[in-house]
Amino acid sequence: MKYTSCIHLEHGITFFSNSVQICCISSHQGGGSIVEIQDYRGELIDWDLFFEKRNQLRENTRNGIPPKKCMGCYYLKEQDWNTENYIDEVLIGHFTHCNCNCIYCYTEADKKFFNANKTYNIYPVIKDMIDKKILSKNATITFGGGEPTILQEFEELVYLLLDYDVYNIRIHSDGIKYSPAIEKGLKLGKITLITSVDSSSEEIYKQVKQVPCFDKVWENLSKYANAKNGLIRTKYVLIPGVNDSLKEVKNWLQKTYESGIRHIAFDIEDNWFKARRENIPQYIYVIFDFVTECYKQYNIDSCELYERAYNLKVDRENKLNSVSQ
Ligand code: SF4
Ligand code: SF4
Repeated sequence: MKYTSCIHLEHGITFFSNSVQICCISSHQGGGSIVEIQDYRGELIDWDLFFEKRNQLRENTRNGIPPKKCMGCYYLKEQDWNTENYIDEVLIGHFTHCNCNCIYCYTEADKKFFNANKTYNIYPVIKDMIDKKILSKNATITFGGGEPTILQEFEELVYLLLDYDVYNIRIHSDGIKYSPAIEKGLKLGKITLITSVDSSSEEIYKQVKQVPCFDKVWENLSKYANAKNGLIRTKYVLIPGVNDSLKEVKNWLQKTYESGIRHIAFDIEDNWFKARRENIPQYIYVIFDFVTECYKQYNIDSCELYERAYNLKVDRENKLNSVSQ
């Protein structure tokens, strides 16, 4: 059936440390963050009740009334949607502890608290989704938190998903701790690993990440890169005033290639982007254009734009279109 909706609204679930939400998207006008279960601490989910509530939202959306929090979200698309009840977009983000210390991270507000914040074990919940055939084998499972590799259940959970034959597992890891489960998933071609290095020099790495792990991370990335088949992206979050030199960006592309990695991702620091969205300085466009237009010169095969960078691109296209009309 054809109507305007989004993949998360139809078949998504997002696990946070104290809630279950539809998605984690929030940069658009409506603000996102639609909570489905409050005060959630890892209990098994009553799927009949879950889909009863979700179907109400889906039906409203089908009738042209999507949730207000979805207003302006670029995920909304008109297409045929499968109206059956299953999940095929999962974000596992129920943990906040991390062995890194990025200056742009939400945990920076109170690192001690977020590192000490006790989380629940999500393994039984995912196992229940598999046993009850709620989780589609075509699902995209994304890990983002916190740092997943230091999560107690991480290795066992990745092996569970690999055994279930899910083939699109996206893991955001800082690359400080090497994970045999990630290596296995890369070898099987079922994992995409995204590591935000945000720099190409030890000095800028230290400024952004606030840990002395520059060499360790690149060493681990090269090791992962030897596990052929899977896809690895080094990511660069552009932080104006910190790592915004074209030289640093060019060296990042070069270092990525030299590490045996052929894919990148690009984004812009969230708070800065939200504050400056209507007034982006020209030099930011220059860096954006260089990354998106010249990455192939470094023998990099693809560049994925994350939420803010994608919004910057769409905003600019919209402005150019309105001027030419
Ligand atoms: S439209 Fe956007 S905010 Fe709404 S559920 Fe989809 S991704 Fe989330
Ligand atoms: S690696 Fe991720 S979770 Fe850890 S501090 Fe950096 S942004 Fe935050």
